[in-house]
Parts: sequence; C-alpha cells; structure tokens
Amino acid sequence: MQIKRLKLAGFKSFVDATELRIEPGLTGIVGPNGCGKSNLLEAIRWVMGESSAKSMRGAGMEDVIFAGTASRPQRDFAEVSLLTVQEQGELFSTVEVGADGELEVTRRIERGAGSAYRANGKDVRAKDVSLIFADAATGPHSPALVSQGRIAAVIAARPQERRAMLEEAAGIAGLHVRRKDAEQKLRAAEANLARLDEILLDMDTRANALRRQARAAERYIRLSDQIRVAEARTLFARWREANVSAEAARAEARQAEAAVAAAQAAQLAAGA
Ligand code: ATP
Repeated sequence: MQIKRLKLAGFKSFVDATELRIEPGLTGIVGPNGCGKSNLLEAIRWVMGESSAKSMRGAGMEDVIFAGTASRPQRDFAEVSLLTVQEQGELFSTVEVGADGELEVTRRIERGAGSAYRANGKDVRAKDVSLIFADAATGPHSPALVSQGRIAAVIAARPQERRAMLEEAAGIAGLHVRRKDAEQKLRAAEANLARLDEILLDMDTRANALRRQARAAERYIRLSDQIRVAEARTLFARWREANVSAEAARAEARQAEAAVAAAQAAQLAAGA
C-alpha cells in the first residue's frame, strides 16, 4: 500500500481544509515548534483507526476536533481522509477498490456523535478499516509510524510488546485480527451446538412420550374393534335364542288351538 494524499479539516490545529500530497521519494515536513508536524502523523494514525485518545495526546477522542483560538470559534467536527493505492499483487479483501487500485479511507468525528468511517465513499465499520491497514502490514500502531517518545517506549518495551511490534512489522497483525474473529465465531458455533444438543435431548424425551401415547392409542383401537365384534356376536346369539323360543311358542299355540278345536267338536257331538 502506498499513501498518496492526506486531507484534513477541523483536525487539531488544521482548522481549514488542508491537503498533504505524498509524492514518490522522500517527503519531509519542516516547521517551527508547535506548528502541527506531529498532528499530521497523528491524523494518519487516527484515520487508520486509532482508538486511544491518550495516544492522540488528548483526554477524550473529541479532543482531536479543532478546539478554537482567541480569533476563531471551535469546530463541531473533524474529518481526515487518506488516499492510498494498491501495490502490485496486493489485495484489500474487506472493501471494493476501483480499477485504478485507489482506496480513500475517511474518518469523521462529530461532537456528541462519535466516529464514522467511509471507504471509497461507502460506510464501513471500524473493524473493516483496521483489517484494510492490518492486511497492508500497517495501522495506527505500526512500528513504521514513529511518534514522539516511541523510541524510548520500544527500548523499554516488555518482550510481549516487542513481539507485537515484530508481528506488526512482519505483516501478520491482520491474521491475528482474523484469528480473533474466527475464534469468536467458533465460540458462538460451539454455544449453538450445545444449545442444539439440549434441544435434541428435549425432543428425544418428547418423542418417547409420544411413542408411548401412540402405542396406547393403537391398543385402544384394537380393543374397541374386538369389543364391537363381541357385542355383535352376543346380539346375534340372543336373537337366535329368541327366534327358537318364538318358534316353540308358536308350535305350542298351534297344538293348544287344535286341542281346543277338538274339545269343541267333541262337545258339539255330545250335545247332539
Ligand atoms: P514540535 O516540533 O514541538 O513537536 P509540532 O510541529 O509537532 O511541534 P504539534 O505537536 O503537532 O506540533 O502541534 C501542536 C499544536 O497543535 C499546538 O499548538 C496545539 O495548540 C495545537 N492543537 C492540538 N490540538 C488542538 C485542537 N484540538 N485544537 C486546536 N489546536 C490544537
């Protein structure tokens, strides 16, 4: 990644829109004490995603907004844009880059509203910006950006801090950010799996209860059928018995009628 241009407006001492072009070769910034040389380096670190107000020599992040002077009122926002161009073979995986390989990252802060980022005019997250620069082996904490007091800090750094600096310099900071991201996703997936296990266990218990209910329902249907058949057979047997009894009664009645007729005939014969 090559830095081509830095634009500032309302950032620290740069109250008016200011443009710093960085041409191929060496660019030097000279000026008297307090003219804003360090502010330019801080603007580069800020647009790359610096989140520590202390390292911007302020108490809060809004301290980067022009605070006003005796002759000029304070500003309500600060904006810094960094125009970069891809080097051959380089990829900016998190954002779209135009055919010219140019990528302009802008950070803007408003009083009471916090920071917002844009990449080639599109709103992006702070994380995307930090990945763009981390993949290009740079960023707000890159050892290539040596701010005041940094040399002393490097000398006094603990082995762990030196390791972080070496990793930044080797360009693997982006991989660390991605690993952290991947680890977070993995943890979320593990939590989901544990939840799924619980749901499966719950479903198993419910399925067992339903299986028991289904077996009871099948038994009920089978028994109901058997009861219906048994009832039908009982009714048929009763009907048959009643029919036989009725037949016997009719035969008895016929015999009785014949006996009565015979008796009447005998009576008539006796009378004559
Ligand atoms: P030196 O050579 O002494 O290191 P320098 O050129 O690096 O100085 P800087 O430290 O970049 O100068 O700039 C400091 C100046 O920026 C001071 O004059 C300070 O008042 C001004 N400044 C810092 N923050 C703000 C702000 N929020 N609003 C207005 N001016 C600011």
